[in-house]
Amino acid sequence: MDELDWEGRKAIVKEVDVDYFTDAESKTDLKVLTVERQDEPSMSGWGEISLTTVTVLFKKVKFFTHENVGSGKVSLPEIEMSTTSFWQEFPLEIYDQINVDREKMGEVLRGMANCLGDIAPLYILCDRKDIGSISNVKAKFSEKPTLYLYDRVPGGVGFSEKIFTMKKEIYKAARYLIKSCACEAGCPSCIGPPPDNNPIRKNLAVILFDYLIDLK
Ligand SMILES: [Zn+2]
Repeated sequence: MDELDWEGRKAIVKEVDVDYFTDAESKTDLKVLTVERQDEPSMSGWGEISLTTVTVLFKKVKFFTHENVGSGKVSLPEIEMSTTSFWQEFPLEIYDQINVDREKMGEVLRGMANCLGDIAPLYILCDRKDIGSISNVKAKFSEKPTLYLYDRVPGGVGFSEKIFTMKKEIYKAARYLIKSCACEAGCPSCIGPPPDNNPIRKNLAVILFDYLIDLK
């Protein structure tokens, strides 16, 4: 890219012949603003949120193999958006119940959010890009491990509220997808590529979905 005119929404680029594409690495901060619906037995809710996203890096990703072949820093303004989100909490006792530390929990939650982001659109009938999914090992709102599925449209258009009402079906489908996936330790079709070859992340995701399905 030769020039970026942020205000004018223009990027001046020139054609190059390379074997990779670039992808943005962004950090997203999520804040719950209002609780509109709450289901205490299932520890889930729905309400307004504010999202602050800042892109910090670009990654070079090789065509076909999706290998990471380099990266570079970028400096762009923060983007803020208010929308609506569904959230699913876990109690702090879950750490002892399934015997994991915070780092492992973070990896499992990321995998679960990845999988839910793929599955939910099939149930609420929208495009994959209409919904964003993120996880937080210690949510600002509650300090609990939390999964979020939010509307990617400013103000929200009802997708995440539908997820709130259909969460059990979606959890069952996500559990089935992970269990029946032929990979050993996670892959892009289920919980995302694994940070290592340890199948524990996949097993724990199934255990946590079982836990959510069994809640009242
Ligand atoms: Zn898989």
